[in-house]
This record gives sequence, structure tokens and C-alpha cells, in this order.
Amino acid sequence: MSPKTIVIIGGGIAGTCTAYFTAISPHRQGTKIIIVEGTKIAAAASGYSGGFLAKDWHGSATSSLAAKSFDLHASLAKEYDGSVNWGYRTVETLSVEYDATRPTISPSPLPWLPQGHLHSSRILGTHSTTAQVHPGQFTNFISRQFLKQSNTELVIGRASGLKIQDGKVKGVEVKTENGVEMLEADCVVLCAGPWTGSLAVELLGKVVGKKLGVTGHRAHSVVLKTKERLTPHCLFTSMTMEDGSVDEPEVYTRPDGELLTPVSCGAGDDEPLPPTASDIHPSPIAIAKLHRQAATLTPHFSRGEGAEVLAEQCCYLPIADRGRPLIGKVSGVEGVYVGSGLSCWGITQGPGTGLVLSELILEGKVKSADISKLAP
Ligand SMILES: Cc1cc2nc3c(=O)[nH]c(=O)nc-3n(C[C@H](O)[C@H](O)[C@H](O)COP(=O)(O)OP(=O)(O)OC[C@H]3O[C@@H](n4cnc5c(N)ncnc54)[C@H](O)[C@@H]3O)c2cc1C
Repeated sequence: MSPKTIVIIGGGIAGTCTAYFTAISPHRQGTKIIIVEGTKIAAAASGYSGGFLAKDWHGSATSSLAAKSFDLHASLAKEYDGSVNWGYRTVETLSVEYDATRPTISPSPLPWLPQGHLHSSRILGTHSTTAQVHPGQFTNFISRQFLKQSNTELVIGRASGLKIQDGKVKGVEVKTENGVEMLEADCVVLCAGPWTGSLAVELLGKVVGKKLGVTGHRAHSVVLKTKERLTPHCLFTSMTMEDGSVDEPEVYTRPDGELLTPVSCGAGDDEPLPPTASDIHPSPIAIAKLHRQAATLTPHFSRGEGAEVLAEQCCYLPIADRGRPLIGKVSGVEGVYVGSGLSCWGITQGPGTGLVLSELILEGKVKSADISKLAP
């Protein structure tokens, strides 16, 4: 039987997709669905990440979910004109090795990457297997579609407690700017990204909460608007700089600006996760490093050559202690679910995560992907 009220904690891609797919499910029987978001929709990584999508780059635990999710991105884009509304497009993806210390006459794979220090390149993904979205635009669009469904609501406030009776969840305490309120709920979904681990301990106590260990790793990016529009390519680089330092910045050209991010899976720095998304600030040192790498790779990314800086930012990857996402029913308190720990693949896997959670909550079983290795 459908729950009476579902409260989804977190308005990132995991939370909004869970809300959306639950709201449009034919198995929903009058259920009220509420997103509780502490800051604003897409306030954290879901608003500031790369937005690169890969269909078949995933390990065995998440391969089925990722493939389903990649296809959901394509079908949502078709249904809602995603190319216009959130910059959805398929891309070719290359791996590129750049070495500033060693000149070469190897040809460049792309017109906007100058020859001279590019030692090798190869195709990692094609237009059938890689794509991209603007993650913040996607997450906001999906949240608006969710709110267009009947009996749905967005509450801006911090979830700070659970009402539990006889081992069952009965409500969520939320701190809003108007004070503390108790939302009645017989189903709660934790989609709080990197805050999920600490929130789980706060809401469920140490014994249950400790099983949901998810923390954050900070990673930076800059968004540049180039003078000329570049081809739709994403690059996974290995760059040796003139001083011999090696890094692996990723480049995602976008229809409206080029995003350069140093994130590779699991990478990040040690800056502790701040209490809320609105307390996240980038390090000027990390940003300066990214600008140096960008300008070294191609003059198109050099501020001296006219590239305009649209954003200098950072966000936190939600990293599960156990190394793979936590998606499913939480044991210990009835009515609690989790969708978190999506690491560096949350934009790819967000729609699939939302769909499988909606199936589990409303139908009692997951039909769309094999998430058997992701149970919390
Ligand atoms: C630099 C960078 C680049 C990335 N690039 C890519 C990429 O190219 N492709 C890809 O697939 N993935 C990428 N990722 C990963 C992806 O962005 C994340 O996995 C994904 O956004 C996580 O989504 P989420 O909804 O789980 O969490 P978040 O987006 O972190 O959202 C969690 C939300 O929960 C809210 N919240 C927390 N606590 C509470 C509370 N107590 N009450 C109410 N609300 C609360 C927060 O305010 C926040 O809005 C990247 C990540 C980073 C950092």
C-alpha cells in the first residue's frame, strides 16, 4: 500500500528525481510527497558539478543502474526538450595526454587544442555512450515538474529530527526560518548527499545511522566562456605542467560555456564538509591552479586571450564509506529509505536512483535496474 506521506530530505538530483518519479508513478495512491531542502534546490554538487553522463563506464555494482539512468536522461530530454531546458546533448569523449616539458609533432585530435605538446589521444566514449547536461538546470527543471503534480510540496528548512513510534517513522522535524515544525510522514527518504552520514546519525541514532556512512570530498571547477564556440567534446586529460607537476583536469565543453574541473573519481581535498551548502566556498589556490592548467591546455581557455570567467566554484562529492552507493530500505526503523553516496557519478545515476526508489517505496520491489549490491 502507498505511504500516506513521503518526506524526501535533500533537493539535489537524488532527492528531486526520487520526488519526481514517485509523484508521476501510476502506483501512487493519493500519497503526499514533500521535499525538505535546507538551502535551495541544487544548492550543492547537483548545481555545481560537471554534468558528464556515461552509459557503460561503471563497475558491476552500479552498471545496471547507470545504463538505465543514462537512457532515462535521453528520454527525459526528449519529453521535456532537454537540449533547450538543461543543455542535454550527446558528446564524443576523448582521453588526452599533454606534456608541457616535452614537445611533439603528434597531430591534435581537435581544432581547438593546439599541436605541440599533445602526446596521445584516444576515444573513450561516443555519441551513443556519453552525453552531458547542465546539472543545476536539470535538477531545477525536474523539481518544477515534480511541483506541477498534485499533492506535492517543497519545504525550505533543515531536517533535524525524526518522530519514531513503535519502530516506525511518524514524522520529520524541520527547522525553517519561521521556527520548528513537525511534518507528518510514514515514509522518509534520506537524499542529503555528503551530509547523509551525519544526518543519519542525528536522525536515527548511532547504531542505525552508522550503517549509512557518507561523507564529502571537496573538488573545484571553473566555468569559462570562450570567444568561439567549441565542438561538443569532453576531455579526460593527463597534464604534465612545466614545473613537472601532474594532474588530471577534465574539460566539458557546454553549449553555453566551457567547464573545467579537476575531478577524477574519488579525488578531492581534505577540507571538512561545512554545516550547510550555503557555507561552501572555493579555495583561491585551487582555482588559480585550474586557470593555469586551462590556459596551458589551449589559448581558448586563457583569460589573456579573451576567455570570460563565468564561475569559480567547488562542491562536495558524496562518498560512501563502503565505496559504493547506498540505495534502498534502511533496516532498524520502518519507513526509512536512502539514496546517497553517488560519488562522482550522481548526475549520471540520479534519474535511475529516483526511479528505483519510487518503485521500491510504492510497489515494494525494484523492476528497472539491478541494485542488489547497493542495499544499505
Ligand atoms: C566538481 C564535481 C564534478 C562532478 N562531475 C560529475 C559529472 O560530470 N557527472 C556525474 O555523473 N557526476 C558528477 N559529480 C557528482 C555529482 O555531482 C554528485 O554525485 C551528485 O550531485 C550528488 O547528488 P545528491 O542529490 O546525492 O547530493 P547533493 O547534490 O549534495 O544534494 C544534497 C542536498 O541535501 C541538502 N541537505 C543536506 N542536509 C539536509 C538537511 N538536514 N535537511 C534538508 N536538506 C539537506 C543539501 O542542501 C543539498 O541540496 C561531480 C561532483 C563534483 C563535486
